[in-house]
Amino acid sequence: AKRTPGKSFEFFSKNIYSEITRILNLKEKIRKVIEENNILIYYQPIINLKTGEIDSLEALFRLNDGNETVILPKDIIPVAEETGLIVELGERILNSVLKFSKKVPQNIKLSVNISSIQLNKPMFDRDFLLSLENSDIPPDRIVIELTETAIMDSVSENITKLRNLKEKGIKIAIDDFGTGYSSLNYLKILPVDFLKIDRSFVKGIGRDRNDEMIVKTIISMAKSMNLKTIAEGVETEEQLRFLIENGCDYGQGYYFGKPVPEDKIMEVID
Ligand code: C2E
Ligand code: CA
Ligand code: CA
Ligand code: CA
Repeated sequence: AKRTPGKSFEFFSKNIYSEITRILNLKEKIRKVIEENNILIYYQPIINLKTGEIDSLEALFRLNDGNETVILPKDIIPVAEETGLIVELGERILNSVLKFSKKVPQNIKLSVNISSIQLNKPMFDRDFLLSLENSDIPPDRIVIELTETAIMDSVSENITKLRNLKEKGIKIAIDDFGTGYSSLNYLKILPVDFLKIDRSFVKGIGRDRNDEMIVKTIISMAKSMNLKTIAEGVETEEQLRFLIENGCDYGQGYYFGKPVPEDKIMEVID
């Protein structure tokens, strides 16, 4: 095949140009929603598999793109993290969740995602506790979700931070468990309450023996360490049955309900 370097360069630079424009637009949008305090937060139920009741709600943010559709975190987070805007965005999200939690029955917990940039910020623990104190929400109603990778970034500092949070009653979940580089050695000393079994493994239930084995292993390991398990991305009856049979504690996924805005979730829990 003949090469046409001129043409492909033009094509390449146009792509870069539109990519830069996209990122700049997103940056502006993130700044704007922070300024206007106009972040959308969706909530998805986490179900206690023994009782069938809602145990908690996970907060998942979205941005309004001005039209009917919303922008998903996967497009926003990389830009928000690179620019550091994730810190302010995270604070706004936390405060909205704390405010919302007052409308939710006391027995339901609220779960918030924390990015590695937030966790690794000096005084993350103190700032988090301050927000919580100002809100009058009992700390044991709040769960923070962190990935293994975020914790491992600077593990000894983060263990101290997590201990400080846990000491006050805040619960800690490891998100996407099994996908990061997890050190079982650290898991033993991390102040953790829940392991969230990554959706990629739950997806393979009924289809892939390896995935089934991984799910079983995570559940039994968690039990032996006195941790609770939450299966992510439960979509089918078959997956649910497998999880119950193998002693998984909680489930979350489209089978139970998709993430929905505040008013919709209130209809479900009222
Ligand atoms: P995550 O914490 O692992 O959240 C679960 C994601 O899976 C959510 O995507 C949720 O909508 C989706 N999901 C739930 N059940 C199912 C299912 O049954 N099937 C399928 N296919 N998907 C399901 P979402 O809301 O787009 O969020 C993506 C990621 O963005 C989250 O992954 C989390 O890492 C991050 N994120 C979301 N909200 C926040 C936030 O407030 N702060 C931070 N730092 N990160 C957030
Ligand atoms: Ca999560
Ligand atoms: Ca997850
Ligand atoms: Ca994830």
